[in-house]
Amino acid sequence: MTIKTSNLGFPRLGEKREWKKAIENYWNGQIELNELHDTLKNIKADNEALQEGYSIDSLPSGDFSYYDHVLDASLLFNIIPERFQGQDVDETLLYNIARGNKEHVASALLKWFNTNYHYIVPEWDNVSPKFNQSAFDRQYTERSGSTHPVIVGPVTYVALSKGGSQSFEEKVRSLLPLYTEYFNQFGDVDYFQVDEPILVTDSSESLKDITKEVYEYFNDALDGKNIVIQTYFERADVEFLSSLPVYGLGLDFVHDQGENLKQIKNGDLKNKALYAGVIDGRNVWRSDLETVKSTVQTLKDHVDDLTIQPSSTLLHVPVTLKNESLDQSVEDGLAFATEKLEELAALKAYFNHNDSSQLDALQERFVNFNNQSFKHLEYDFDVPVERASAFESRSAKQQEKLNLPLLPTTTIGSFPQSKEVRKYRADWKNNRISDEEYRTFIESETKRWIDIQEDLDIDVLVHGEFERNDMVEFFGERLAGFLVTKFGWVQSYGTRAVKPPIIYGDVKWTKPMTLEETLYAQSLTEKPVKGMLTGPVTILNWSFERVDIPKVEVMNQIALAIKDEVQELEKEGITIIQVDEPALREGLPLRSEYHGQYLDDAVNAFKISTSSVQDETQIHTHMCYSQFGKIIHAIKALDADVISIETSRSHGDLIQDFEDITYDLGIGLGVYDIHSPRIPKPEEIKEAIDRALTNIDTKLFWVNPDCGLKTRKEDEVTAALKVLVDTVQEKRQAL
Ligand code: GLN
Ligand code: ZN
Repeated sequence: MTIKTSNLGFPRLGEKREWKKAIENYWNGQIELNELHDTLKNIKADNEALQEGYSIDSLPSGDFSYYDHVLDASLLFNIIPERFQGQDVDETLLYNIARGNKEHVASALLKWFNTNYHYIVPEWDNVSPKFNQSAFDRQYTERSGSTHPVIVGPVTYVALSKGGSQSFEEKVRSLLPLYTEYFNQFGDVDYFQVDEPILVTDSSESLKDITKEVYEYFNDALDGKNIVIQTYFERADVEFLSSLPVYGLGLDFVHDQGENLKQIKNGDLKNKALYAGVIDGRNVWRSDLETVKSTVQTLKDHVDDLTIQPSSTLLHVPVTLKNESLDQSVEDGLAFATEKLEELAALKAYFNHNDSSQLDALQERFVNFNNQSFKHLEYDFDVPVERASAFESRSAKQQEKLNLPLLPTTTIGSFPQSKEVRKYRADWKNNRISDEEYRTFIESETKRWIDIQEDLDIDVLVHGEFERNDMVEFFGERLAGFLVTKFGWVQSYGTRAVKPPIIYGDVKWTKPMTLEETLYAQSLTEKPVKGMLTGPVTILNWSFERVDIPKVEVMNQIALAIKDEVQELEKEGITIIQVDEPALREGLPLRSEYHGQYLDDAVNAFKISTSSVQDETQIHTHMCYSQFGKIIHAIKALDADVISIETSRSHGDLIQDFEDITYDLGIGLGVYDIHSPRIPKPEEIKEAIDRALTNIDTKLFWVNPDCGLKTRKEDEVTAALKVLVDTVQEKRQAL
């Protein structure tokens, strides 16, 4: 049997984020639409040429986008938010929905399954589904050839959307003739890749009937056209998928805990083509091609028609290693999108032409990397994972030391990263100014904001995080075992890209990371200044983690390093230390059977970081989301003295979660939304406080904004905080 290779999608960003720059220039009026089309067309052509260069047998088409592939499907099928209806379906509409315009707010963004990619949530209120030819023409330029058009499947699309009075099934059914119209646009193509990742989640059971209906409908309507139902990020129910009348199944053999392979071994898949995701599509590591080889061999024995491909679209990894200047010993271990195609080519040469030269050369690099000494350090995990005393007794000692008023006020950490701050950092990074000049500037900015906070009469101050580019990258640059790339960008939402640090070796604390700035700030004021750290769960979830050891080990290594920093701060007299965990919830596995283990591990890591301190030291944590439901017990188990959370957008819901389990540690509810430039009104803040105080003990309650203030303008911050402090002071009088 000849093995074919395929790909599910390629990064849009371009090697040096050309995609982002072109689109933003278009938004700013610096280039015309024609030029945008030309630039994007070139990026797309480069992507295709590259994939062809690695002799990928079937290239994806339509995976390229002007913003987001879910939004593309919305335009294609005319699922236009009510407030934007009546406009032409063109680039202006596309970007209006994505970003909002003067009259109307943008559509919501949500995380795409358990990735850090955000899609635009489709809105069904009063829509009139129809096929939009213009949207199709922008997206699908190849109508035939060695290609497979890619689209989000109807079940997943509807599952990810909101609004509308129709039932789930009615929505799906209303799209089916439009999908048929879509399929019929094409001439001879290899197959249609229809992405249904929703079928790997907990909801897959309840979606079986409608899924069956959809694919039977397509089978009747399509008259022999080949559909591959594509899943990824978890195991699928292979038996169910093989019962559908489709030509092929796409399965993930990397993130399936070995379950997909087991299922294939247990029941031959003779009547279907298998599209096997054997190369990790969402991490940056070179594959262990020996292991992959044996997986492919096993699959070969069980199926008649085999294509190998990445486990998911390569959208979730950077484009290429070629512009990096990394140590050879480290580079040996890495494979970005381009290098993953190289791996596929090597596997194909081995299986089809009995030529193992490429594969051996790649495997040698993999082995080199894994034998490195930076991956095998000794750790002492024998550290406390419980505080010495229970909350009640330690909080009394903390209060004695801190002597805070009722309803203490504080902020979450960052103050505006102004143009000036960003310019100084860029100048420093590019050696245009000296370390000394940079430090002097950071100090002056810190001092200015300590003065502002004192003038505002805030109770617990922060240094402002002016020295930080990003809350994870900053620590990645300072801890051993991490590397930060130059061009390792990954699309997060729209034109916003992030550059996750790569954990390539054992993580170690080597020197204080935050001490200088924190102590400087503390030296300027009598009030307590909070030490400000990112927690181990968040650092892990927002990095590319190594995969040669269990994830929990990596998390615990980071936890030990953060513990070292916590102790350093404590030793130097910092009495309040905040360990942020905004990514704790998003790391929840897609299937609930794995939630318990994940939460236990996450809680344990947080406690490794924070339990070694004395009773008098107050540990804070912060999370900026508000759906705690499923994880509320884990949040309580963190045993943080104070948690600050986002609430202003969830109205009263969240308090319910905390009430149900009698949450009896300190809690600070975000009393205003920091995502908007709007200055909150005193009544709103007062109402938020009053509502909280009906449920929460006054002595446990703190008042703060929803999240860090780095994206806001200075005058917005000072005006909003003034309202916050004034309202609290008035409230105190009344207590
Ligand atoms: N301390 C961080 C800040 O204020 C927290 C950011 C976050 O929660 N995402 O910016
Ligand atoms: Zn936050």
